[in-house]
Amino acid sequence: MPERTIYLDHAATTALDPRVLDAMIPYLTSEYGNASSIYSLGRHAMQAIDHSREEVAEILNCRPTELAFVGCGSESDNLAIKGIAFASQKKGNHIITTPIEHHAVLHTCQYLERFGFKITYLPVDEYGRVDPDDVQRAITDQTILVSVMYANNEVGTIEPIAEIGKICRARKIPFHVDAVQAGGALPIDLATLNVDLLSLSAHKFYGPKGMGILYARQGMRLLPQLQGGSQERGRRAGTENVAGIVGTATALRLAYESLDEVTPRIQALRDRLIEGVLTIPHSRLSGHPTDRLPNNASFCFEGVEGESILLNLDLRGIAASTGSACTSGSVDPSHVLIAMGYPLEWARGSMRFTLGKANTAEEIEIIIKLLPGVIEKVRELGM
Ligand code: PLP
Repeated sequence: MPERTIYLDHAATTALDPRVLDAMIPYLTSEYGNASSIYSLGRHAMQAIDHSREEVAEILNCRPTELAFVGCGSESDNLAIKGIAFASQKKGNHIITTPIEHHAVLHTCQYLERFGFKITYLPVDEYGRVDPDDVQRAITDQTILVSVMYANNEVGTIEPIAEIGKICRARKIPFHVDAVQAGGALPIDLATLNVDLLSLSAHKFYGPKGMGILYARQGMRLLPQLQGGSQERGRRAGTENVAGIVGTATALRLAYESLDEVTPRIQALRDRLIEGVLTIPHSRLSGHPTDRLPNNASFCFEGVEGESILLNLDLRGIAASTGSACTSGSVDPSHVLIAMGYPLEWARGSMRFTLGKANTAEEIEIIIKLLPGVIEKVRELGM
């Protein structure tokens, strides 16, 4: 076993920040009350939730009442899309999205097709970018929702959210943004972005796993997807995960407090990694060259399987990711790269390195030194 792990898969998840854990511990131990109980132990729990909601609202520049704490980013996407779709059936049945969304959005849209909803998948360019004019053209009098991600989880491309939001606002169509990869990494100001619904996930910004946030602008009618109690203003039944909520708000605050310090450092390491890796023959950067998440370096290597590279790196203690999905033994190339027009020989050889605040220049140099040999070996063996 390698002595240490070089972790370069922060888009998959991040380690809990010890300061977040400290903030959560009281609510996992002594402050164990149910926030619905009226005695003081319960009131303490409710106060912690209220305080956390206010903290998140201040960071995102929205009203606390517009925020619901939910069980993960996927649940937030589900609640936004199904919630709007089922509440708007009398208005129409048409939803616009992109083929490069996370499966939490794509599979939700596919599910809605069973109920008679029609889905338009907008084209994307070679960098994975949506053209706002295509949104304009796709809108019909039946359109009830547009859902476009803030930044792509595989290739890191940032979408023109503000422009798309402007179009949706002018046409009075709710606009949902899956900002799971952007949360804690890019500034989000809900007072100026023309966004009506926005999804976040705490474990992507050094918060706890199993916690998400849904922002739904005041006046958005959403059909709840969990029936039961009236928690989260009736939007999400279930006893609140108080420790998770406190951890989520703390993590979001810490992420935005350190954004100006962390971003240039991560971006410089990312740029060095890109420069080093692109010296490998038959390699290319995937995603937009400049409009991309500051921590994302994703590549395609012609004629190799991303999984083989991944396993070889794992043997050397390096954790990264490929865009491909392993389904019942066969490896499907990434739906994102296919939508971006990559031929199969390139799409199969995708690798994503996503940096975090603890990565060092020394670690990046190790990757740059190691990767060419790994790719050469994999190519030689025809893996
Ligand atoms: N949306 C995007 C863009 C993601 O990257 C992810 C997770 O990787 C999700 C949604 C789902 O978030 P969660 O893991 O919290 O369910």
